[in-house]
Amino acid sequence: MWEKTLARPAFPFGRIIVKRRVVEEYKGDSDMAIEEARALGFIYALAMFCIAAYLWHSKRWTRKMGIVFLVITLALGFLIFSPIIPWQFQSLILRDARGVGGPLVIAAAGILVMLAMSFLFGRFYCGYFCPVGAAQELASLAPVPKVRVENKIWPATIRWMFFVLFILAGYLFSIGLLRLFGIRDFFLLIISTGFFIFLAILVISLFLYRPFCRFICPFGAIVSIPAMGSRFKIERTGACISCGTCEQACPTNEAKKADLKAECYLCHRCLDVCPVDGALVYRRVKEQEGREGT
Ligand code: SF4
Ligand code: SF4
Ligand code: SF4
Repeated sequence: MWEKTLARPAFPFGRIIVKRRVVEEYKGDSDMAIEEARALGFIYALAMFCIAAYLWHSKRWTRKMGIVFLVITLALGFLIFSPIIPWQFQSLILRDARGVGGPLVIAAAGILVMLAMSFLFGRFYCGYFCPVGAAQELASLAPVPKVRVENKIWPATIRWMFFVLFILAGYLFSIGLLRLFGIRDFFLLIISTGFFIFLAILVISLFLYRPFCRFICPFGAIVSIPAMGSRFKIERTGACISCGTCEQACPTNEAKKADLKAECYLCHRCLDVCPVDGALVYRRVKEQEGREGT
């Protein structure tokens, strides 16, 4: 019965049952079905990651398509079908197999796979398939004045400082600092202080691009390292006229020629505003190096 409900999560009555089950699990009941749902969620994120990378590389991706993916990820986040890796990372640090939703070693392998994929193709998980990122990205689309943070050093410094605190609190005192931000309560629709804190983060996201991702998320800090050396990236070509329009449009200040794209969420804004066809492309870094060398 439970498995049938999970197989059709969009059915409204099924959603209510799913949420009730999730709340029960949160309160402490063991439920294998939740673990299966998380495994399915991870497979979903991995498969969609590959599809998104293919669509980007074949130039079939559009901003509208991205918004559809974001809405799906957000909806699936509420059904725990889309993995909330920051939370699972915290559970891993706390050595909490129940929070991870399965054996710790599998969760560690899942996180490593996501890091490897980000090294190959960039931060598609962060861009489109993390429910926390999707909620902030959708909020950022609101047509209200935006606050730009031109300096890249201090957001990274704050996030790495939080990362150190997060690891120390987890390892030494078994304290999960992410609980303070209400991610899990928000997606389980548990009305608590944390729920309203995350809601406040979403309100800030209307004006400041992805505040949780850029200033707090410990997984975001780690994934920014492989993203710097990712094999596929957005690159300028010889057709670029150096007009700077893409740099103005980039919400994370990652669109300059020399930027490593550590904080590129593949939002597509730069590509949308570029006035020259083919001046900005998502491609394999090696291909570009090869062409420039010839
Ligand atoms: S930085 Fe963290 S919260 Fe943001 S999208 Fe990536 S994993 Fe999710
Ligand atoms: S606008 Fe910036 S963050 Fe968005 S895809 Fe372009 S470089 Fe990446
Ligand atoms: S918007 Fe296009 S043409 Fe202008 S600087 Fe960026 S890549 Fe070059």
